[in-house]
Amino acid sequence: MLSANPEITISARRGFTLMESRYFDGVTLGIAAASILLFLATGGTVLPELVRYWRGLGGEPDVILANALILNIAVILFGWSRYKALSRELVERRKSEEQALRLADTDPLTGCQNRRSFLPAVNALAAAAAGSGREVAVGLIDLDHFKAINDYHGHQIGDGVLLATAARFRDLLPEGALLARLGGDEFAFALAYHNEDHARIESLVDRLVGSAANAIEIGDAQLEVSVSVGVASSRHAGDADFRAAGGGEDLMNRADIAMYQAKKRGRNRLQWFEPAMEYEQRFRGELEAGIRRGLRAGEFVPFYEQQIDLDTGELIGFEMLARWQSPDLGLVNPDIFIPIIEEMGLIEDLAKGLMAQAFEDAKKWHPRLTIAINVSPLQLRDPWFAQKILKMLVAHAFPASRLEIEITESALHDNPGLVRTTLTGLRNQGVIVTLDDFGMGYSSLSQLRMLPFDRLKIDRSFIRDLKHDETNAKLVGAIISMGVGLELPLVAEGIENDAILNTLRGMGRLKGQGYHYGRPEPADQVLERLSALDLLAPEAGTLGEHEPIDLVETSPAQKTA
Ligand code: C2E
Ligand code: CA
Ligand code: CA
Repeated sequence: MLSANPEITISARRGFTLMESRYFDGVTLGIAAASILLFLATGGTVLPELVRYWRGLGGEPDVILANALILNIAVILFGWSRYKALSRELVERRKSEEQALRLADTDPLTGCQNRRSFLPAVNALAAAAAGSGREVAVGLIDLDHFKAINDYHGHQIGDGVLLATAARFRDLLPEGALLARLGGDEFAFALAYHNEDHARIESLVDRLVGSAANAIEIGDAQLEVSVSVGVASSRHAGDADFRAAGGGEDLMNRADIAMYQAKKRGRNRLQWFEPAMEYEQRFRGELEAGIRRGLRAGEFVPFYEQQIDLDTGELIGFEMLARWQSPDLGLVNPDIFIPIIEEMGLIEDLAKGLMAQAFEDAKKWHPRLTIAINVSPLQLRDPWFAQKILKMLVAHAFPASRLEIEITESALHDNPGLVRTTLTGLRNQGVIVTLDDFGMGYSSLSQLRMLPFDRLKIDRSFIRDLKHDETNAKLVGAIISMGVGLELPLVAEGIENDAILNTLRGMGRLKGQGYHYGRPEPADQVLERLSALDLLAPEAGTLGEHEPIDLVETSPAQKTA
């Protein structure tokens, strides 16, 4: 019968032939042994007779016995040669099986161990170390930005970097230490040591990190590589439970947690595991689980912040700001959950849900009010981003001209060509495109001219200190004249009080937003506000002709001031 799993069929077949050959091996050996015994029994009398007969010195020997003897000799010779051939075959087969096993345990490029063989080896090392009262250190090493080397210089150079790095580690590690390439650009080492040598291990790990940082020369290329390393030692694990738990796997997990921290703290560094990291990791895990649940349960909701024409005080629209109404944590701000959702790869799901809610909310507002939506740099990497937005606009029957999307400067660098195509596509359909957090210092003037923006939003860090800080006032002045030069309208965010507002008003024609006009608020409060201003959509309320409304005079923030 054929097995569905080819591996099983092959290994089963290989096992059978090996047994088979061993069986025949025995049989031939048996036949040869029997023949030898027979030879000894008959040969003693028949052989001298036969020799005498051939020399013409005696009569014909017994024909049957003589034939039996000759047959006997033939069987011995045949058996012997078959035996030799079979044992040769067996040796070769054993060798190739050993080689296959070695290959399965080895990384073919660097000759280091691979992931498959590393963990059992660490476990064995940990068990042996525990038995002899020694400690084990396990380190995980990740090459920073290795993908860029591959992309930029090609895979051959990339392989060269991996080879050179592996060779450096191998040179530094003491005898008996394990070195593995776990995959891609990730290496791992493990070594056992006596507790009193801990300082030496620390300096060895330092040297490993340092050695990786030395430039690598491959052909004409000079490559600078840095590594992020996380190390965990059974010494820090301390308790007996840990050792009983089989050591190796725990050490690898802890080294992994430490490496994650090393990366988070800016790469190119070494991080020893600390117990607090495990709590952080657990908290992070719980947060992620909560976010997943929250996304399914609709706990992420849009809040809205007013946007005002500073000259007239007229309300022109809202910026949508995401909030997480967590049953455990309360109202959570996006600075906390957006980066996590981005790392979880769920930003598109979140954005889609929020945007759908925002379109439905905004349809209840006066049709001249716009809705600004923040777009994550990750979303802009999607070549279908513009199409997806336009599709949603159609699905919700929401006019493109009422949608404004806010892009941060950092989003412009990943793939300027794609970003430009995306933004141009959206603009051509009437969507307003704004550069958010402007002035944080990423975009060059030429980039600004090349990219199709409708507005610049001056980062709130400049606005915040406007009234105390001369330099900031000069900076804002410069930004405003730049906007005028580029013919781009400007929005100031983070207007917290009258003093800032008045300073800004004196600087040029601006739009603005900030706590001065009120905090971001949920959809129902926006409706109350709009109802009071007679700014609900015609179907939903009693909307008259549009008149400019001076919100500065009537805003709740102002009244309480
Ligand atoms: P942002 O786009 O710069 O949004 C403005 C932030 O400043 C908001 O914080 C807002 O509440 C706050 N703010 C407004 N006026 C004032 C003020 O007068 N003073 C001060 N100190 N702060 C003020 P929030 O809501 O916590 O949002 C933080 C950031 O999270 C946003 O910064 C935005 O980059 C991001 N974000 C918010 N919602 C979304 C979203 O739906 N998608 C994405 N991708 N990012 C979002
Ligand atoms: Ca924004
Ligand atoms: Ca901003």
